[in-house]
Amino acid sequence: TQPLTEVDPEIAAVLADELGRQRGTLEMIASENFVPRAVLQAQGSVLTNKYAEGYPGRRYYGGCEYVDVAENLARDRVKALFGAEHANVQPHAGAQANAAALAAMIQPGDKLLGLTLAHGGHLTHGMKLNFSGKLYEVAAYGVDPDTYRIDMDHVREQALAERPQVIIAGWSAYPRQLDFAAFRSIADEVGALLWTDMAHFAGLVAAGLHPNPVPHSDVVTSTVHKTLGGPRSGLVLSKAEYAKKIDSAVFPGQQGGPLMHAIAAKAVAFKIAAGEEFAQRQRRTLDGARILAERLSAADVTEHGVSVLTGGTDVHLVLVSLKDSALDGKQAEDLLHRAGITVNRNAIPFDPRPPMVTSGLRIGTPALATRGFGDAEFTEVADVIAETLKPGADIDALRVRVEKLAGDFPLYEGLEEW
Ligand code: PLP
Repeated sequence: TQPLTEVDPEIAAVLADELGRQRGTLEMIASENFVPRAVLQAQGSVLTNKYAEGYPGRRYYGGCEYVDVAENLARDRVKALFGAEHANVQPHAGAQANAAALAAMIQPGDKLLGLTLAHGGHLTHGMKLNFSGKLYEVAAYGVDPDTYRIDMDHVREQALAERPQVIIAGWSAYPRQLDFAAFRSIADEVGALLWTDMAHFAGLVAAGLHPNPVPHSDVVTSTVHKTLGGPRSGLVLSKAEYAKKIDSAVFPGQQGGPLMHAIAAKAVAFKIAAGEEFAQRQRRTLDGARILAERLSAADVTEHGVSVLTGGTDVHLVLVSLKDSALDGKQAEDLLHRAGITVNRNAIPFDPRPPMVTSGLRIGTPALATRGFGDAEFTEVADVIAETLKPGADIDALRVRVEKLAGDFPLYEGLEEW
């Protein structure tokens, strides 16, 4: 019954400091978001106490009657949200969802074909130090060196040459939509399964603002905590024919007891994602990214060697190239941090600088859209970023503009008392 401040003042201070950081700065890491109070409540609940190995109605533990309700709600809601035949909501995170998806689809030694990590793919799509690169043979496609876009003719050539068992559509850093119908037809042509990892853009899909990969894919995985705006966690959607294999790949294949507090929080997030307020938020997310791309493509910015990869964006993020800038990715990330804007440096395709330095920034709008930002605020933040990336920027003056924006959009008001 003792509060955290008494039991563990050091950790209580971490929570308070982090809340202060989130309130006082502008969060533009493309994979982050702010969960609603209702999600925090479900996740920080007594459901964390419950063991529930197995699935609703078929558990290996007693006392699961209430957590079963939560898991059934989460499954039914996410199936309805994306039009999926089957859903597994137990993966602890995106990486676990991906491990289970691969285990359900193919055997160790079989071959994957995905977007190379260096061009925006994810670790779990075949990076050599990751389980995916150790268990499976890996082939990759990249983006076009002139357009920086995925060229489906190139994907098809790679598929025909490599004959993979699974083709992966999905990315961690790519500013455009994918052609799922073309991926499907290439997979059919070479007899591969199609797995889409929609971790980044799932919220846009839920809002109807991005093509839905579910009808085209055999298996779709996602995280819940990026554009989808829920608790940190993962999920797997699939055609009914893979349901049994997916479920046994998650449990007992990859995991033990599911995190029932996280599953309840997912159910809450899926309910919210079906609503109109969520759709409007995703629209502001996209509009904000477009404004950012436009402002960072203006002549007074590009004359300093800053440019926007592919010339724009269709999604919730912008990839900035600093290839021709005096600033490298690390320096730009640090300057923005000093101005109060959090982004991550990111290697760009064909990056001339080393991976710890990079020549790019990945800048996302989901968290600020959740905070309430609209066109006017995204214009102001884009201009602050542009100024920061120009030589001789007055970082202290820019920091004042950031603090004004942050102050105008209070975050988690009264959280200390919840
Ligand atoms: N898949 C993609 C495309 C991602 O971008 C990420 C996260 O960065 C993941 C999977 C992994 O998610 P997690 O960090 O929850 O394991």
